[in-house]
Amino acid sequence: MKKVGRDRRKKMIIKQYEVGNFAVFCYLIGDEETKEGLFIDPADDADFLLSEAKSQGVNKIKYIVNTHAHVDHIMGNSTMAKKTRAKIVIHEEDAPFLTRTPSDLLEMFRAASSPPADLQVKDGDTIQVGKLGLKVLHTPGHSPGGMSLYVDGMVFTGDSLFVGSVGRTDFPGSSWDELETSIRKKLYVLPGETIVFPGHNYGPKPSSTIQYEKRHNPFVRG
Ligand SMILES: [Zn+2]
Ligand SMILES: [Zn+2]
Repeated sequence: MKKVGRDRRKKMIIKQYEVGNFAVFCYLIGDEETKEGLFIDPADDADFLLSEAKSQGVNKIKYIVNTHAHVDHIMGNSTMAKKTRAKIVIHEEDAPFLTRTPSDLLEMFRAASSPPADLQVKDGDTIQVGKLGLKVLHTPGHSPGGMSLYVDGMVFTGDSLFVGSVGRTDFPGSSWDELETSIRKKLYVLPGETIVFPGHNYGPKPSSTIQYEKRHNPFVRG
């Protein structure tokens, strides 16, 4: 984890965990004051994630936020929702796919299908935990309702932007043009020092910055 130095960030808990067999990065975001938190893409290892949340002092998981509806990101929803009663949050354009994972994919991933979304969000919405607000950035292209989440100098990019790479666009509903536009118009416009936290551990390091990706990402240069 990167140490975050500015005082205004001190009341925030941000932890990155690689879970399951598909190098998915799950994130715990918590408000130290109210002890409320959320998970972004808690795809596997629910008991481990919950013990980590507890050890960070987060005693109430309010939301399970999915960056998009692909099986590798949503396969932990059912277990996590049962254990926490957290509400499942996803972008409105991926919400229909949340409960429609094809059975052959569920078998291949040995995954349970997700319960339906409790909350559907769209670009510009804010997901609130305690005093923290995560801003929804709709970043379609890898999937129609792919979203990134911005909070206080950090952006969680799901499968839209990886460290040194970008999400695949050969799935049904994917579009390279849309993905490139999302990266340029929604992500590369963020301040250069914004820390990029991706949805998979696919790069040479677990996080990056907007400025680094603009200069070095071989797929989309800014
Ligand atoms: Zn995906
Ligand atoms: Zn993925």
